[in-house]
Amino acid sequence: MKRRTILRNSALGAATVAAIGACSGPSVQTATGELPTLRWRMATSWPKSLDTIFGGAQTVCDRVSDMTGGRFTITPFAGGEIVPGLQVLDAVQQGTVECGHTASYYYIGKNPALAFGTAVPFGLTAQQQNAWLYHGGGLEAMQKIYADFNAIDFPAGNTGTQMGGWFKREIQSVADLKGLKMRIPGLGGKVMARLGVNAQVLPGGEIFLALERGALDAAEWVGPYDDEKLGLHKAAKFYYYPGWWEPGPTLEVQVNKTAWSKLPKEYQEIFQTAAFEANMNMLAKYDAKNGAALKRLVAGGTQLRPYSREILQAAERASFDLYEEDASKDATFKQVYEQWKAFRAQVYGWDKVNQLSFANFAMADK
Ligand code: CA
Repeated sequence: MKRRTILRNSALGAATVAAIGACSGPSVQTATGELPTLRWRMATSWPKSLDTIFGGAQTVCDRVSDMTGGRFTITPFAGGEIVPGLQVLDAVQQGTVECGHTASYYYIGKNPALAFGTAVPFGLTAQQQNAWLYHGGGLEAMQKIYADFNAIDFPAGNTGTQMGGWFKREIQSVADLKGLKMRIPGLGGKVMARLGVNAQVLPGGEIFLALERGALDAAEWVGPYDDEKLGLHKAAKFYYYPGWWEPGPTLEVQVNKTAWSKLPKEYQEIFQTAAFEANMNMLAKYDAKNGAALKRLVAGGTQLRPYSREILQAAERASFDLYEEDASKDATFKQVYEQWKAFRAQVYGWDKVNQLSFANFAMADK
C-alpha cells in the first residue's frame, strides 16, 4: 500500500510538472496552454477474468490517467469485445482503435520475426528478455518491423517462465506427441508441429471449453495462477513443465503510429512510463501468485510431470532447425535472429556463472 501511495504521489508530481511545462515552455499543446483531453480505446487479447495479464492493460490505462490528472484516458476492452482477441494488430494498424495490449507472436503470419518480441522456444527468461529489449537492441528491432504496420510497440508485461501445458494423458516420448491436438501459439506451435503435434491457436477465453469437450487433447496458457482461473485443471490432469517455448514472454502495447505522432510529447513520455510500470508489475504479480496456486492445484489432484530429456532435446533441435530455415527464407528474420542469437550466447554465459550456480545450490532439491 505504501509503495502505491508513493507512486501515486510522485505521479501527481509528474502531472503537475507536465502541466507547468505546458504553460511556460515551448511544448504548449492547445491555444489555452493546457494539455488536451483525449479519450482512447485499447483492444486486448485477454479475458477480463485474468487480473494478471488483462491487469497489464489495466495498469497502462490507469497510470496514464493518473499521471495526466484524468486528461488522457484509455479504456481497455477484453478480447472479442470490440476486436477479436488475435486481431489486435489489425485493428491498431487500421486505426479502429488507437492502441492494443497483446502478444507480438500472434502475428507471425504477417512477419515471422515478430516471434522474438514475445518469446521463442529455448530463448530468453523474463530478465534476459528485458535486457535484450531495453538494452540489447531488441525493442529497436521490433519497432522497425512494426513501422511497416503503422504501429509502435512498447513492452508492457511479462508472465515469467511458463508451464508446459495440460495433457489428458502422460507424454513420455516424442512418439507420444504424435497426432495430439494442442493449443499452443507462436513458434512453440511450429516446433510442436515438427514433433508431430496438431498445433492450434485459440484465444485464452476459448481454451477451457475446447479442452473439456475434447476438441483439444492438450493446451497451454501461462502458469498455475492463470490456468487455475481458466479452469484448465478441471479438463486435464497432467501438468507438464517447463514451458520451454516461453521462458519469459513479453506482452506489449501497440499504438497506431498516426495517433502516436499526434500525442503531445508529455503524453508520449507518460504512456511509455506506464508501459514500463506494467512490464514490471505484471511479472511481480505472477511471481508472487504462482507458487500458492501451484500448491492448490497439486493438493486438488493435478499431477506434475517434467518433460523428458528426449522431448526437450528433440524440441531444442527442431527449434534451431526452424530458426535457420526461417532465416534462409526471410531477410528480416535472419537479421533479428542473428543479433538475438549473439545476445543470447552472451547473456547465457553471464547467467550461467551467477544465477544458475546460485539457483542450482539454493533452489534445487537437496
Ligand atoms: Ca503460453
